[in-house]
Amino acid sequence: MRVCGGLVVTGTAPREGDILVRDGRIAAIEPPTAGGELDARGCVVLPGGVDPHTHPLSGLARATTAAGQGGTTTVFGFTAPRPGESPGAAWRRAVRDLPQATVAMSLHPAIWEPDRLTRADLEELRALGASSVKLYLAYPELGMMASDRTLYETLRASVELGLLVMVHCENGGVIEARVEEQLAHGATGIDGFVAARATGVEEEAVARTLALARLAEAPVYLVHLSSAGSLVLVREARAQGQRVIAEACAHHLLLDESCYERPDPGRWLIVPPLRSRFHVDALWDGVHDGTLDTIGSDHAQVAYQPAFRGADFRALPSGFPGIETRVPLVLSEGARRGVTLERLASLLATTPARTFRRESTGAIVPGAAADLLVWDPSTHWTVDPSRLHGGHAWTPYDGIEVMGEIRTVIRDGAVLHGPPEP
Ligand SMILES: [Zn+2]
Repeated sequence: MRVCGGLVVTGTAPREGDILVRDGRIAAIEPPTAGGELDARGCVVLPGGVDPHTHPLSGLARATTAAGQGGTTTVFGFTAPRPGESPGAAWRRAVRDLPQATVAMSLHPAIWEPDRLTRADLEELRALGASSVKLYLAYPELGMMASDRTLYETLRASVELGLLVMVHCENGGVIEARVEEQLAHGATGIDGFVAARATGVEEEAVARTLALARLAEAPVYLVHLSSAGSLVLVREARAQGQRVIAEACAHHLLLDESCYERPDPGRWLIVPPLRSRFHVDALWDGVHDGTLDTIGSDHAQVAYQPAFRGADFRALPSGFPGIETRVPLVLSEGARRGVTLERLASLLATTPARTFRRESTGAIVPGAAADLLVWDPSTHWTVDPSRLHGGHAWTPYDGIEVMGEIRTVIRDGAVLHGPPEP
């Protein structure tokens, strides 16, 4: 296959060229020819998206089909351990479902019972092929909140074992206290949920995590940062020589807290909650200046439904789909805000792939897997849930005007979506 005449985003300056694909791999990048098999003239050719943060296991076939349609050719999904199940057993159980995936799929082990986590568990995960392990500093009510000791010890062990520790940074104890404050004041609705999870509870946990990672002399990956203050902390830590990988999620870049003023605000509940425009703009500053490294979707194939039964916000489900819209919406808004194509490719594909040791994808270089997307910046469309493929009747992005359309998605040299090979 020859992908002809597109503007190829290679990591250096984009240049027009043909991509020669052979046996599922990029064989060469050559000077542009005048059209041919897969005509990409007038379009941008980017590496297939790599989504570092998803929760797809409750519907892997649909979630990964949606990913592929939206330009994502590699998905990292979190395991979902059952009560009492070891992290390794949860991994092995998830692996049995992976043949359902229609794009490349890797797992991140989620630790939901951190008090039982042992060094042997981490060694087993490494032996199973994990490149990461995820801890939560929130959700004490679910027994999921890692203690400072567990976080520190896991960071220490991670260096030796070659596992990157991913941390959900929110101070769970303070959230519990603030939940009670909200309820005591009669704030039982969405506003109470959002106020309990104010940016300060994230920033405290980011500061603590960075301090412990510094003590442990370990790199650390911070998931779904949503606050301007968190990015300040990341910059300070890096200035001290720490290796920090900072992730934002697409909804925090594309939506804001005004969604909670809509007639059906509960649909936009997510953790961390959507923030004010000030924070949205600060995250885009982080996209521009390199503070942020990766953009995930935090796609929830099904919303998280708390076990709590009651008439206040503690019973509300949270989380929403986003695996299919991540690449097109971030490309659209990124271009509108003047972010370079190289930078967007890095956030959406190259850096997630490298961070989690999938060096064979995420970049358009000879020898890499032919995971590509052809993006036509000249067209416009409007997000409509009936056009999406994840099996959801609703999307948080309904009605958003999008610049540029993904015309073709190629995975391992085969067309997943778009015009068939002539
Ligand atoms: Zn998540």
